[in-house]
Amino acid sequence: MLFRALFFLFCLTAGGLVGWWVKQQLQLSNGPWIGVTAGGVVWFVLDAVGAMRVLAYLRVNGNSESHGLLGVWKEVFERSRRLLRDRDRLLTESQRRLQDFLSAFQVSPNGVVLLDSQARIEWCNQTATHHFGIMAQRDLAQIIGNLVRDPGFIAYLASRDYQRSVTMPGRESSPSRPVVLSVQLHPYGDGRTLLLSRDITALEQADAMRRDFVANVSHEIRTPLTVLAGFVETLQTLELDDDERQHYLRLMAHQSTRMQTLVNDLLTLSRLEGSPAPDLSCWTPLSQLMAQIWQDALSLSRLITAEQGEMHQLVFDDKVDAELAGDVSELLSAMGNLVSNAIRYTPAGRVITVSTSKTPENGLMFSVMDTGPGIAPEHVGRLTERFYRVDRSRSRDTGGTGLGLAIVKHVTQRHSATLTIESKLGKGSVFRVDFPQERVRFKN
Ligand code: ADP
Repeated sequence: MLFRALFFLFCLTAGGLVGWWVKQQLQLSNGPWIGVTAGGVVWFVLDAVGAMRVLAYLRVNGNSESHGLLGVWKEVFERSRRLLRDRDRLLTESQRRLQDFLSAFQVSPNGVVLLDSQARIEWCNQTATHHFGIMAQRDLAQIIGNLVRDPGFIAYLASRDYQRSVTMPGRESSPSRPVVLSVQLHPYGDGRTLLLSRDITALEQADAMRRDFVANVSHEIRTPLTVLAGFVETLQTLELDDDERQHYLRLMAHQSTRMQTLVNDLLTLSRLEGSPAPDLSCWTPLSQLMAQIWQDALSLSRLITAEQGEMHQLVFDDKVDAELAGDVSELLSAMGNLVSNAIRYTPAGRVITVSTSKTPENGLMFSVMDTGPGIAPEHVGRLTERFYRVDRSRSRDTGGTGLGLAIVKHVTQRHSATLTIESKLGKGSVFRVDFPQERVRFKN
């Protein structure tokens, strides 16, 4: 400011001096005053030029140098430029942050929709697009209730009570593949709302499976328990002779064995689910497994066909000399279950073939082929579900729990093997387990 005032005085003085000199030369009495006024005008013009140059510089966003500017205008220019740069930096920074937030929301596994105070869409992420079929660009400023037409959601939106979430079917939901969404609105800011959606299909399915499982287990246990209680009451209330008592005790023993088998299978399943998969450190000769399976098959066939006088024709075609890596008891349980099913479901006298062979991929194939009733195609895909039975009474009569193939499936998965079921109604079935190369060591 001092420089500006001094420059002003300098212009006036210089103008006055020039006017005085002119007065001397031209005998002009007003010369000094005209000179002072002219000096003031020159100062004003120079000052105005400085101001205009600053404005011109600022118009191009301060992206130029202050060439030729002096004094206060140079300072005004420099300070303005610094302020502009700070503002730009802040703007860029907040834009970057906004982009970061939006990118984070974009990859969120939950659907996110930002709604304004009129429930119009301001922004949504890809998951929300997937869940509701809305698109950020296309449906911007559209009222959400016009696009998501589920009656439950519409009622929830209108209720203005967003304490709880609601469930609704997802856009891609179909009767064969239901998709369940949990949706909740969260008010924020000045009347805006955040709509969050979560795919809870798997949770709902797990919950339904758990409910079914508990209902099935209760049912399976209640039946033999009711029978047992009935026999106990009979023994307590009726006068029975020795033969009758023995008969009832045999029936009671049968029911308690059934419950024991069921509990054992349930424990096996929960152990399989709760423990890590067997590694490759324990190798068992295949011949040892086959010998055990053969013994168990003979005993079971003898027991089942005792009253029919004729056993099954058991063929063991185990020419492969190999070792299998895994848990021996699990392997025995899976292979044994397949053989025991074949024996239980195949009528006495018919052929059951158990074979092993090397696969083209250098793995091991274990298969059980029976000549029993076979299984209709619509059942085949569901056989490994817990408690799924095609022939309920035959399963129960032969001591089945409905858990055998579920155990087989778990064991094969834990050994990186695959279970394949092929069956022809009236002809028989083949249950085949393929072990991968890394779990087999061939000796011949
Ligand atoms: P279960 O204890 O009832 O045998 P599984 O899980 O082992 O239970 O088998 C499920 C159902 O699959 C059985 O109830 C039976 O209906 C059918 N099944 C299994 N193996 C055979 C087979 N070899 N032949 C015909 N049906 C079979």
